[in-house]
Amino acid sequence: MNLRCQSCGAELVVAEGLRTTVCPYCAAPSVVERPPSVDRPTPTFALGFALTHPAAGERVKHWLRTRNPWSHSGLKRASLQDVRGVYVPAYLYSALAMSRYSVSIGEDYTETETYTTTENGKTVTKTRTVTKTEWRSLHGEHAEYVPDVLVTASRGLSNVELEKLEPFDLRVLARYEPALVAGWVAEEPSLSRDECLGLAREEALEKVGRRLESFMPGDSHRDLKHDTRLESESLDVCLVPVWVLAARYAPDKPPLRVVVNGQSGEVFGKVPLSWVKVALTVLGAAVLGLLMYLLLSRGGRP
Ligand SMILES: [Zn+2]
Repeated sequence: MNLRCQSCGAELVVAEGLRTTVCPYCAAPSVVERPPSVDRPTPTFALGFALTHPAAGERVKHWLRTRNPWSHSGLKRASLQDVRGVYVPAYLYSALAMSRYSVSIGEDYTETETYTTTENGKTVTKTRTVTKTEWRSLHGEHAEYVPDVLVTASRGLSNVELEKLEPFDLRVLARYEPALVAGWVAEEPSLSRDECLGLAREEALEKVGRRLESFMPGDSHRDLKHDTRLESESLDVCLVPVWVLAARYAPDKPPLRVVVNGQSGEVFGKVPLSWVKVALTVLGAAVLGLLMYLLLSRGGRP
């Protein structure tokens, strides 16, 4: 059956038996049935879950235990039974990047300098070695294949969160078969292809920029600029396995969420600080300070 979360916009596909009333991504109780979509791209690839439900629960528990003591306890109250496996739609992108770049390359050299100073009231001339940099401009061309750029196609899971869970082991990438996701919650691509292509190109260009940085000659460089054309692009929908624990502590606040890479067990989440806890701690310290002061001033009396 097909469901839509009216809060985060996730478009879920679940088996009749897995009918859910809260969104696995955001824990909003506003999941409604929707007609099946017609124009969505079907996944080309999928990565299976390697991490079991109990193992994912352990990862989440450990992660929660090691948080800041002042963090909001909304997630600690959440049941680990609520950790749900979701096949998240992503786009797998690759391209050939053709770049022209310009940069200033710095070469260091040393020079002996004479200078005058005053010693014991006399002016003396001395020498010292100083390092200087000579800059020259460099232009060049570079071509490279950029494989395996993964960007989210989900309204439920942001690209930032997906990036924190990466890498996924793409060596075990399989052709998508409906049987693979049977019994799981899966999401259909809920972001448009163009939106995702934009994200993927941005990531590819960042990768190229970092690569160019890494092989610049000289002792240092500055003002690296590149003009890169992306050719022979490919973009395929790929389902990736993610365990999600979502909880809401207030209807008007964004959900607290911990996500786990369903292959590697990598965990990512953000838990806001609880200002009540912070205030109580500060208050407690103040009371303790006052008691100490009273005790010491009393002890000091003859
Ligand atoms: Zn949702």
